[in-house]
Amino acid sequence: MGWSRICPSQHGESRVMALIVQKYGGTSVGSVERIQAVAQRVVQTVKAGNSLVVVVSAMGKTTDGLVKLANELSPNPNRREMDMLLSTGEQVSIALLSMALQALGQPAISLTGAQVGIVTETAHTRARILQIKTERLERHLKEGNVVVVAGFQGITDTDDLEITTLGRGGSDTSAVALAAALHASFCEIYTDVPGILTTDPRLVPDAQLMAEITCDEMLELASLGAKVLHPRAVEIARNYGMPLVVRSSWTEEPGTWVVSPMPQVRSLEGLELVHPVDGVEFDTDQAKVSLLRVPDRPGVAARLFGEIASQNLNVDLIIQSIHESNTNDIAFTVTRTSLKQAEAVASAILPALSVGITPLDRDAEVMVEDQIAKVAIAGAGMIGRPGVAAQMFSTLAAAGVNIRMISTSEVKVSCVIDQSDCDRAIAALCKTFSVNTSAVSDQPSAISHQSPKALNTPHPSPLTPPVRGVALDLNQARLAIRHIPDRPGMAAELFQLLAHQNISVDMIIQSQRCRVINGSTTRDIAFTVGQLDADMACAVLQKAAPDLGCGEIVVDREIAKVSIVGSGMVHQPGTAARMFEALAQHKINIQMIATSEIKVSCVVAREDGITALRLIHEAFGLSGIQQTQVST
Ligand code: ADP
Ligand code: ASP
Ligand code: MG
Repeated sequence: MGWSRICPSQHGESRVMALIVQKYGGTSVGSVERIQAVAQRVVQTVKAGNSLVVVVSAMGKTTDGLVKLANELSPNPNRREMDMLLSTGEQVSIALLSMALQALGQPAISLTGAQVGIVTETAHTRARILQIKTERLERHLKEGNVVVVAGFQGITDTDDLEITTLGRGGSDTSAVALAAALHASFCEIYTDVPGILTTDPRLVPDAQLMAEITCDEMLELASLGAKVLHPRAVEIARNYGMPLVVRSSWTEEPGTWVVSPMPQVRSLEGLELVHPVDGVEFDTDQAKVSLLRVPDRPGVAARLFGEIASQNLNVDLIIQSIHESNTNDIAFTVTRTSLKQAEAVASAILPALSVGITPLDRDAEVMVEDQIAKVAIAGAGMIGRPGVAAQMFSTLAAAGVNIRMISTSEVKVSCVIDQSDCDRAIAALCKTFSVNTSAVSDQPSAISHQSPKALNTPHPSPLTPPVRGVALDLNQARLAIRHIPDRPGMAAELFQLLAHQNISVDMIIQSQRCRVINGSTTRDIAFTVGQLDADMACAVLQKAAPDLGCGEIVVDREIAKVSIVGSGMVHQPGTAARMFEALAQHKINIQMIATSEIKVSCVVAREDGITALRLIHEAFGLSGIQQTQVST
């Protein structure tokens, strides 16, 4: 259609003849009056000379109501029928908005996902978009209509033309995918808050609005519990370089821009099924310090990492595994040149940390390893695709590489391995994921000791604040698999089993200490999954455990995951320590820690979740004077 591409100003104003995709969430279309207000805003945008596609969610809490009805009939309703049911909500709101526009004299037409041609895969209740056919949309736009599209839904291109939905909150994804398919100038997400804030203003009213945030930061925040944007919407914006802004439906304020890296030329075929991995990274300048059998009580991590930070040592990965009896293991990586200092700090404070361990336990100890390397796969396409991490583990297993430490984020999976395995691991990963990092894969260690970071990662300056946002996820459960034989391939087998059920896993942590059972060495692995997947994950693992030689599976649903996110933390030693200190001061015990370059997540008791969020938000100085009222 040849839309001219314009650059949106920071105030969301557009110049003449832009094509804009606007999306209005459930609260914004929650009543007839609100639909009329949306219609007014749409008409204003058209009068300013723009063409408009408007995506809407179901009115208010309609979708929740439909889910409730289904659950009254069955605890586990058929997924196809769920899609049939839930997709009705959006059909109501598109018709009403279209009528409201027509009543204002604005030509408009409503279209369902199927009518537009939003083609998805068949995976009911969580389908990914494969393609959007734009011919009909473009025809209606050319005729001067505002096209009102039902968010959250699509259709399969099988003979049966099945109705699908994209997963809860998926209208954001519909909007950004439409914007990408139509080569729109930008995509505006209108919602019930002024934009993206430092945390959820419903829980922390003095959370502050951000003028902009990077896609990588937003991806982490969205997947760690900030529901203001669907993570897959951010992924599409990132992949297609689509300018995206989150704004309030009630005001003219500019909102928050989600900043993408350089726009890339990408095929629109297989829209959401792009290459999951963009790059393989490695770092051979790594050493690992483990503290075994430190007491499981508030303040231990704060004390340890506080000391490390006071020596100005920058810590990379940190993990703390589930506790056995009354002790924990904590492991972290530093650069090799920092190892001696880090070891000295850890050894010096160990006696102080260990006070109170019962005599039944063996003594706490510090272990160091300097012959290690970190390999990672990176890419926004791995979001919600549990098979990708599992594929990494299988690839390493097939290459005979034992995984020593695992750290996951939404856009990266990192594994610590023996340094002697590094070249083999990189070559195998590049092959599996068809990543063309030939310079790295040919002769990795000869070229550089530091990985070239993914080209797309925006480089934070030392002035970037370490933490941009804080998120709380109360919908997670923790699973632990005890006594897993310590040999290559075990993580692969276990996580493949979950991936086959489409269960996404986060915070995978392998215990540092070994236990010898019947002559063979075993370790524990703990991880978090969404609460809805916990039963299924447990059942699958329980079934497989005896054959794999693993012990019992333990589930804990009473957890909360609280996370800090910010690309500036790479430059700021002590960021994690500050988070741990905030929790320690209020005697909140940390059950699990997992980090990636731009996030630190802690699992705490569910009852401590909201307090933990507030304390951490405060500790990083993110609170402001302005209070955000959220309309319901
Ligand atoms: P919509 O129906 O418009 O899609 P959602 O309820 O899905 O709206 O998302 C908006 C909500 O996201 C806000 O009301 C707020 O409670 C929540 N939220 C969570 N974290 C954040 C954050 N960091 N910034 C803004 N809103 C957030
Ligand atoms: N109505 C759907 C839901 O509530 C989709 C959305 O609002 O984004 O999940
Ligand atoms: Mg939403």
